[in-house]
Amino acid sequence: MTLRLFNTLSGQLDELVPSDGHALRMYACGPTVYDYGHIGNFRTFLEIDVLRRFLKLIGMRLQHVMNITDVDDKIIRNAAQAGVSIGDYTRPYVEAFFEDLEALRIERPEQIARATEHIPRMVELIQKLVAAGAAYRTDDGSWYFRLASFPAYGKLSKKDLSGMEDGARVDVDEYEKDSARDFALWKAAKPGETSWETPIGRGRPGWHIECSAMSMEFLGDSFDLHAGGEDLMFPHHENEIAQSESVTHQTFARHWMHVRFLLVDGRKMSKSEGNFFTLRDLLLKGYKASAIRLALISVPYRHQLNFTFDGLVDATAAIGRLRTFHARLRAGKFPPGETPEMQAAAEKALNDYMAALSNDLNTAEARAPIFDLVRAANTAMDQDRFLAGDRDAVAKVLADFDAVFSVIEDRDTEPTRRAIAWAQQAGRAADIAPELLAKSSITDEEINALLAERDTAKKRRDFQRADQIRKQLTDIGILIEDSKDGVRWKRK
Ligand code: AMP
Ligand code: ZN
Repeated sequence: MTLRLFNTLSGQLDELVPSDGHALRMYACGPTVYDYGHIGNFRTFLEIDVLRRFLKLIGMRLQHVMNITDVDDKIIRNAAQAGVSIGDYTRPYVEAFFEDLEALRIERPEQIARATEHIPRMVELIQKLVAAGAAYRTDDGSWYFRLASFPAYGKLSKKDLSGMEDGARVDVDEYEKDSARDFALWKAAKPGETSWETPIGRGRPGWHIECSAMSMEFLGDSFDLHAGGEDLMFPHHENEIAQSESVTHQTFARHWMHVRFLLVDGRKMSKSEGNFFTLRDLLLKGYKASAIRLALISVPYRHQLNFTFDGLVDATAAIGRLRTFHARLRAGKFPPGETPEMQAAAEKALNDYMAALSNDLNTAEARAPIFDLVRAANTAMDQDRFLAGDRDAVAKVLADFDAVFSVIEDRDTEPTRRAIAWAQQAGRAADIAPELLAKSSITDEEINALLAERDTAKKRRDFQRADQIRKQLTDIGILIEDSKDGVRWKRK
């Protein structure tokens, strides 16, 4: 099986295979660590995780590099305002980013590259650009890329750049200009700014050169796939191509994947609109990390995802159905044998699931057959038409589903506990939903101890105490289920 993935560069679905026949070499633009990650950022990182996990599921090896932009205009500005070094300024955000990835079960790339640790590589690349006649120095000691030296500029974003003005410059990292400009490769040090003493002068790298230098350092001059959010297509990725190909004269990345931007309640997410959410905001409101993951990946990466709280509630319910079924599948006592119906249903679900993902990672179409199978298997169990041999077939489908979706196994307690602890020490305790605080303040051991006490109370027919304990737990969102195999509980 292979993956057919839309390629922004070719404008069509292309088969994604390692060109060296060994491992897929891919680079994904990572975060700029000037603040906590918001759900738009994580939408992109989650979709890249879906890609990673699916490729691994079909047996591909990966060499995936992600950068951390720990120096740029915003970081320098914010660090200066806070009166700290950029290292001290970015440290908590870098840590938070990795914690958030873990909360969302986003796998770590094989290689993480921090911009500030690769400055010499960037300087080398700029020197090569100068030698190739593609870069020039300005009076203040900065270096710029000469767009006119690269006629293929615009081939990724398909922008018509015919009105391009030779020599017009832009010195900020991020810009949205219709007509392109010569952009900064290296910015001369300004008083008080973080800078590095290098053979091309004292200064700091522009944002675009980072990704060219670090991707080629780890993956070679020409590699398989480059990914990021759609906002990066122009100018960031276009600039990366220009900087790299001007030196190597080879195709920089063969395949480009861009994740469509997320909207919140139908609008662009923005702090001033009040519809801006970090992962931590949502955890503190009491939503589970798994529900956030499922809500953010259930719309295929090229479709516009409109994030809503109703969507999170639906995702929570969907995960509940999967987990309840999974527990029933594992614990159920089924007669020996297998049924042709369940075997066929499991096989069909798996085929449909794999086919949907292999077709441009269509996560929406991929999850549908899984939920159909869960429904069919639940009905079969209710009617005693489910046999022990069916369990393995269905379990295999769930395992392959979870290899990519990663929501069935319940690992939601820890991210929520950590978010609460973080809010308490970051002065954001007021943002913790009260029910969440009550539910999370009780440990698993304390719950088990209370349930044991309830059991003893029942045995000595002290139903008043038993009911009191049940009420105490349900009031803080602990659901108790008495079954013939004993008592089970879960956090709502
Ligand atoms: P940044 O930290 O701003 O450099 O962004 C990190 C990643 O998140 C980049 O790949 C961006 O394209 C992506 N991103 C930022 N905002 C959104 C959004 N609203 N929807 C989807 N992806 C986004
Ligand atoms: Zn980048």
